[in-house]
Amino acid sequence: MAEVFAGALARKETEDALRASESMKTAILTSLSTGVAVLDRDGCIIAVNESWNRFTREDSASWDAGAGVGSNYLESCRAAALKGVSHAEEALVGITSVLDRSRLSFAFDYSYGTAPADRWFTLTVVRLERPDGGAVVSHTDVTERKRIEMDAQQSRQELAHFTRVSTMGELTASLAHELSQPLSGILTNAQAAQRFLAKSSPDLHEIRNILSDIVDDDKRAGEVIQRLRDLLRKSELARDPLELNELVRGVAKLLASDAVIRNVAFAFDLHPEPIVLNGDRVQLQQVILNLLLNAMEAMVDGADSDRTILLRTTRNDLDAVHVSVRDTGAGLGPDAEHKIFEPFYTTKPAGMGMGLSIARSIVQAHGGLIWATNNPVRGATFHLALPLTPAGQSR
Ligand code: ADP
Repeated sequence: MAEVFAGALARKETEDALRASESMKTAILTSLSTGVAVLDRDGCIIAVNESWNRFTREDSASWDAGAGVGSNYLESCRAAALKGVSHAEEALVGITSVLDRSRLSFAFDYSYGTAPADRWFTLTVVRLERPDGGAVVSHTDVTERKRIEMDAQQSRQELAHFTRVSTMGELTASLAHELSQPLSGILTNAQAAQRFLAKSSPDLHEIRNILSDIVDDDKRAGEVIQRLRDLLRKSELARDPLELNELVRGVAKLLASDAVIRNVAFAFDLHPEPIVLNGDRVQLQQVILNLLLNAMEAMVDGADSDRTILLRTTRNDLDAVHVSVRDTGAGLGPDAEHKIFEPFYTTKPAGMGMGLSIARSIVQAHGGLIWATNNPVRGATFHLALPLTPAGQSR
């Protein structure tokens, strides 16, 4: 008797526990804002929660419409796919693959409605872990997340546009600045050639040299313009292998006639081995050119002795290169070491204050640093540190 009683009690307890667990599951499913449907292995809907009914009634994907308990979800998808309803095919393929156990889960995002009131959902299908198989399909409203993502994307685009526009502003200012140099070089040389030609026996050798200087200046102007065109087309930096010593010498050569006119000499202390790095040749030339022009301008009022600009390149073992331009000019004013790299900071009556700010953007785009220090005795030194990328090892 006691045994029968105990058995009945145990059964009752098990049933109670089962009911409690069932009602717990139902409570959980009901409380979810996500629409959930349970499918058997053939795709028939065997259970849904409250939200699922709301979804299929109101605003879920149109392949869902009216898909309730007892209907076959795969059939709804198939019918919708045949009618060309967007994503129905994708849903069909995904759900089939989870039901036939070739995939563990499957998910995709879709939008519903018309912009800007679009709503976004994620369809998720996961395998139901039980011997009979099946799957759980859910629709989650992710509109808020999507909106945040889209806002973030728009801000990124606006920022990129703003950066580009401000770079364009800088570049236009630099264009005027960079072009004035070769253009005045061309004028001076052309006038000199006219004077030579006016002589009774013109020195043809000299005129040939002058013409070749004109050609060089013209090419330089062309490169500046090309740079602007390139920037309009794409904002990427060229990453060509270039040899730094050659680049430094090349820029100094471009300024050779200016240096003679200003009574300035260039001295070189270059790393004995070639230093190859990957970078944008024209942009780096512009940086060095700017530093040399500034150095010459800083020496304009200086004494006649020691009017030398020292160009140095060194390579340390840490895969970085160092370029410095040392002048014997006026030096940097108090607290000017940082200000000079700000746009529009200038102490020159006709200056634009763009040269060093552009130089800094270029150097930073190469992953490098630019800074300036006053020399112990006289003048200033500008330093560039540039990383040597793996492909640009010293030969
Ligand atoms: P800009 O040459 O048009 O003034 P930059 O940006 O090239 O523009 O230079 C900004 C300022 O930095 C200069 O006006 C000058 O005061 C200072 N500067 C630049 N190079 C030197 C230098 N080598 N020696 C002393 N001052 C310099």
